[in-house]
Amino acid sequence: MEQTILLTEEEMRRALERLAYQVLERHGDCAGLVLVGIQRRGADIAARLGRIIAERLGCALTSGALDINLYRDDWTTLSAKPAIGPSDIPVDLDGRDVLLVDDVLFTGRTIRAALEALLDYGRPRRVELLVLVDRGHRELPIHADYVGRAVNTGRNEQVDVLLRERDGRDEVLLSSH
Ligand code: 5GP
Ligand code: MG
Repeated sequence: MEQTILLTEEEMRRALERLAYQVLERHGDCAGLVLVGIQRRGADIAARLGRIIAERLGCALTSGALDINLYRDDWTTLSAKPAIGPSDIPVDLDGRDVLLVDDVLFTGRTIRAALEALLDYGRPRRVELLVLVDRGHRELPIHADYVGRAVNTGRNEQVDVLLRERDGRDEVLLSSH
């Protein structure tokens, strides 16, 4: 197995700072903004961004989480089906700006399912997407508005997102088998 480092701990820290600033640049005081992380690592990343933004603004953002998992045998399966688990969205999304957050964007099917799941919570004014890594290979017309790191990957490669709170250290690796 070959592995290359896509983001070191320091690069991940800087990427998250930059992403938080980009969100602040577009959303000003972030009034009406709701962060929705996709379980599990998307929710971890959303929580980190929320903390950075809250420090800058001096106020907390509303946040929630969606549990969406793709059932597929491996990353190369074309017809992956999203399984929608329990959601935790504490507010009515009518008229709000929603920022969906995920660790890796690949085919776009998870985000498509997330957009559908959001409909149960009202009609947002706008929905944006932030991902730590865009690894390409989209199968749907979905793109991210904020990207930590875009990288060309092979279908049989995999991005390993390691997060301190879950994996004991911050690092993003590209591995091929
Ligand atoms: P998509 O639905 O866009 O095909 O895949 C995105 C979802 O699958 C994300 O929730 C992400 O966590 C996971 N995913 C897809 N490819 C990778 C990958 O290479 N590494 C990791 N860690 N997750 C991936
Ligand atoms: Mg995921």
